[in-house]
Formats: sequence, C-alpha cells, structure tokens
Amino acid sequence: MNLILPLQKSPELNSCEAISTRLLPSCPDYAYWQSYYQQLLSGYIGEKSLDYYLRIAELDNTVVLQGFRTTHDNETFQIDLLILSEGFILLIESKNHKGRIQLPAHSDQMIRGNEVFSHPLIQANIQKKHLQKLLTAYNFPNAPIHTAAVFTNKKCILEKSENNPDIIVSQKIPDRIDEIKTLYPHPIYTKEELHQIGYTLRKLHTPKTLTQAIPTPFIEPGVTCINCAQRAMTWKNRTWICPKCQHKDKKAHIPTLREYAHIYGPTITNRKASHFLNISQPHITKHLLKTSGFKATGEKRGRKYMIK
Ligand SMILES: [Zn+2]
Repeated sequence: MNLILPLQKSPELNSCEAISTRLLPSCPDYAYWQSYYQQLLSGYIGEKSLDYYLRIAELDNTVVLQGFRTTHDNETFQIDLLILSEGFILLIESKNHKGRIQLPAHSDQMIRGNEVFSHPLIQANIQKKHLQKLLTAYNFPNAPIHTAAVFTNKKCILEKSENNPDIIVSQKIPDRIDEIKTLYPHPIYTKEELHQIGYTLRKLHTPKTLTQAIPTPFIEPGVTCINCAQRAMTWKNRTWICPKCQHKDKKAHIPTLREYAHIYGPTITNRKASHFLNISQPHITKHLLKTSGFKATGEKRGRKYMIK
C-alpha cells in the first residue's frame, strides 16, 4: 500500500478545537461550538481508527488516499477512504455513530432512535459519480468504482434488514477487500497510471476550512500550562511560570500562538500577540516573537509575524 494522502486534522477541525477549548461558557453559541467540534472530532477519530485495518489488509499494488476533498465543476465532495488498485477503485464512506443503527430494507435512510440520517451507501454513490466525472475530465480510463460503508465505532449496534455485504463494521474491512478483489480480476490501470491518478488527486486535495464567524469576544486569551491546563502562565525571569502548579516552560507561548493561528490565521502583530499572551510590555512580546523562529514581514508598527 502506498499511502500518498494520510489522514490529517483539517484546518476546520484545528480551528474548532482551538475555539472550543478557549471559548468562554458565557458565549451564546457555546453549546453550538462544543457540539460542532465533537462531531468533527468523532468523524476524525473514526477515520483514524481505520489505519489499523488498512495495515493488516492485503493491499499490495494499491495507492491510498484518506480524507480526500476537492471541488470539481462547482461541486465539492469528500471521500473518507479511497483505495486505487489495478482492477478497481474502492470508495469507502466511514461513519462513527454509536448506538443502535438501523438500515431498513428498501429504505433510503439510516435511522438511530428518532434521528434520521442519509444512507451511507447512497452518500458513497454520490461521491462515486463526482469521482467518475473528475477522472474523465483528467482523461484517466474509467475503472469500476466499488462503494462500501464502514461503521467505525465499537459502540455501534448495526442492524441491517438485508444482508448487504458492503455495509460493514471496521473489523470486516480486510475480509471484504479480499472478496471485492475477486469481483474485478482484470487489470485496467498500470502501476504508473495508479500513481498518476493518486498524485493528480493529491494535488487537487483542498481540506475544509472554517467558514463560520469567529466568536472573538468570547475567546479567552492566555498561555496554557501543559502540566495543569490552566490558562494563566506569566512571563517572569525569562520563563513562563504557572501560578497554580509552578510549572516552568520557556517555550509555553509557542503552542498558544499556534492555537491563535488556528483561530485567526497564521499572521500576527506584536499588539495582537501581546493581548493573546497576556503580556503588558510590548518589548517582551517582540523578543518572544523574534526568538520563535517566525518569519517577519513589514516594518515597525506594520510588522507581522508568520506563525508556523
Ligand atoms: Zn500549571
């Protein structure tokens, strides 16, 4: 298996994570942000848990992409797991729902208690159509695209009313891949084409970013202590010190500035950094930004640093 696009947290997830950890409970949208973050995180954990099954599956001569997302013909689509092989393409939609999931026969919906969701195989088939169009647009031969839905949560009770072999739990992935291989014994792509498709898709990958307005007045500034998670470290005698647990850390501002970058974007001014780090003396902020290895542009008051 050649994993050319490993799963990474999207900028949307990173932003949501940083916002939800710093959001003051007095924010009117507090519950919204927490649930938004939990939902994204759950999807990510579910997709990440597939790594283990991919490692044990027989995936010789395949090119694999995780969390591929792109826009083609004004349509944006995301494929949780894409396995390109010589005879077929396997497109997997992953679901991390827990609880009793029902997929009634002849129904186009997925049900959990009183909640109704899109049927994961119908979703996968829509992604398949987008992918087919994309491959055609790039003049790649069309191999059959096989779709499957994988339930990744160990606390999911899967109830299928008909025995559809392509709705499975994670543990079944290696076996199901072996079965699917026997359905497509004839090679369509050469090894070279497989790599060309994989690298073409990787170039087109555009991970999702946050589009919601940031609840800035409710974002709590401050340097987080890695020992006790309090956001109250102060800069004293050339180091950060936590007033609660006395933990000392010269570099504690770095992860805090990275959180700033996840929320507000990678450029920061001395004034904004002073506010976010709770530093009252601008020359100290200047010193910290200069020694952090961040690239600086502009002069004097217009000087900006690129957080990396
Ligand atoms: Zn502490």
